[in-house]
Amino acid sequence: MSSIQKTTDVILIGAGIMSATLGTLLKELVPEWNIKVFEKLEKAGEESSNEWNNAGTGHAALCELNYTVEKPDGSIDISKAIKINEQFQVSTQFWSYLVNSKLINNPQEFIMPLPHMSMVQGEENVTFLKKRFKALSNNPLFKGMEFSNDPAKLVEWIPLIMEGRTSNEPIAATKIDSGTDVNFGALTRMLFDHLQTKNVDIKYNHSVENIKRTSDGSWELKVRNVFSGSVKHHRAKFVFIGGGGGSLHLLQKTGIPESKHIGGFPVSGIFMVCNNPEVVAQHHAKVYGKAKVGAPPMSVPHLDTRFIENKKSLLFGPFAGFSPKFLKTGSMFDLVTSVKPSNVLTMLAAGAKEMSLTKYLIQQVMLSKEQRMEELREFIPNAKSEDWDLVVAGQRVQVIKDTEAGGKGTLQFGTEVITAADGSIAALLGASPGASTAVHVMLEVIKKCFPQEMQEWEPKIKEMIPSYGLSLMENPALLQKVHTSTAQALCQRKNEPVYS
Ligand SMILES: Cc1cc2nc3c(=O)[nH]c(=O)nc-3n(C[C@H](O)[C@H](O)[C@H](O)COP(=O)(O)OP(=O)(O)OC[C@H]3O[C@@H](n4cnc5c(N)ncnc54)[C@H](O)[C@@H]3O)c2cc1C
Repeated sequence: MSSIQKTTDVILIGAGIMSATLGTLLKELVPEWNIKVFEKLEKAGEESSNEWNNAGTGHAALCELNYTVEKPDGSIDISKAIKINEQFQVSTQFWSYLVNSKLINNPQEFIMPLPHMSMVQGEENVTFLKKRFKALSNNPLFKGMEFSNDPAKLVEWIPLIMEGRTSNEPIAATKIDSGTDVNFGALTRMLFDHLQTKNVDIKYNHSVENIKRTSDGSWELKVRNVFSGSVKHHRAKFVFIGGGGGSLHLLQKTGIPESKHIGGFPVSGIFMVCNNPEVVAQHHAKVYGKAKVGAPPMSVPHLDTRFIENKKSLLFGPFAGFSPKFLKTGSMFDLVTSVKPSNVLTMLAAGAKEMSLTKYLIQQVMLSKEQRMEELREFIPNAKSEDWDLVVAGQRVQVIKDTEAGGKGTLQFGTEVITAADGSIAALLGASPGASTAVHVMLEVIKKCFPQEMQEWEPKIKEMIPSYGLSLMENPALLQKVHTSTAQALCQRKNEPVYS
């Protein structure tokens, strides 16, 4: 049986961190708008946003070496690092606003202070790290970063990594104490709990199967109750496709011109986790290394302390892999069914270009646990197999599109917001830097889709995010103010900033 429901102002598809963030922002800006959410799983934050499906790094470019590339003249380009750092601080300001306004509580359940470190081995890499340190530590955004190539200092910083290290290769690291571990799953659930109290109609176990435009310019969604099989049609003036890996298929169904010539390439992830308290107690940082030659940027190896459900554990990875699914709970036909007449040439071009990546990913899938342990031992020489288990992480669907610089079928590693020309529908594709920059990305969606309302909304946005529209790097007084206030709100401990 099929029936058409009353038109709502907003429909959010998917209950991940992106829809959670957009819904929360909109409820603060226009509380009177009615919002519906459809999520095909039984709870919020069960796909990529789940705490075990991502690494939980509050990406602020404090440790990720792929955000600072070496230019041909040998200097280090820190422009991407600055951008990501400022974007993460947009998130911390919004989260602080939510805590201070008592819209969410107990920030320590989703954000913990944790040193962020980069570690490299070999002469050439140490020279690169030193140059990167010099370029960053002169910038106010990265104040407090330290560098060391002194083994005694490194033993103090990373005892587990230094113990049993026999190689004579030079080794160096940078450390900054203002990094964070973020439980995006817990945050997503908190935001949906809050939205429920604001009368947002959240329908779990409801899968969106089709989206089409109506004659009055709004959108009609065909939604199936996954238990009963019943289908209903829901209409909205504005739709956000926040389906994570599921977004591409839904975007294609809209038929908007902006959805053409775009494809997706799934990359799966596997982590190794250690719950042995003796081992866990010896490490307290996120330590990012350098990606292996030929490896995609999202498979930079790192060893992280994680705080999940009041328990500390260690996570190592991710090992990239290949699966044709676009969601962890997706279908083996996702990749094939994403190829349409409008993107087949783009996909074929990417297929030809990315043969080596596909080969790399397939090799990664084939690794045995012992082979993965060998990679872990490059970080922890004394790692014992019995202390580590494999956990399957989320799927990332990298965007493939035609670009001027890369030509037809170029693989993108960032996030793409696709909107219809009239702003009535938006979709988020891609997964990096991901959840950390959710607030910045959702503000971009709002700016693109509600240009008329922006003038009226701007004062409220600035109340929630004091640095909105400004560069923190160029406003030292504001930077200091933001650090102090976010530290107090998110850490709840005076003089122990989340971010300083
Ligand atoms: C291995 C890995 C490591 C990562 N590490 C980090 C990190 O350290 N830091 C960081 O900031 N980011 C990280 N990310 C990225 C981050 O996890 C994602 O960017 C973010 O979680 C995406 O949120 P989302 O809301 O877009 O998608 P999701 O969390 O995947 O949510 C999408 C939701 O939509 C639902 N859905 C899909 N299709 C439909 C449909 N048709 N109908 C109804 N519902 C539907 C899904 O069930 C799901 O619940 C990582 C990702 C991976 C995979």
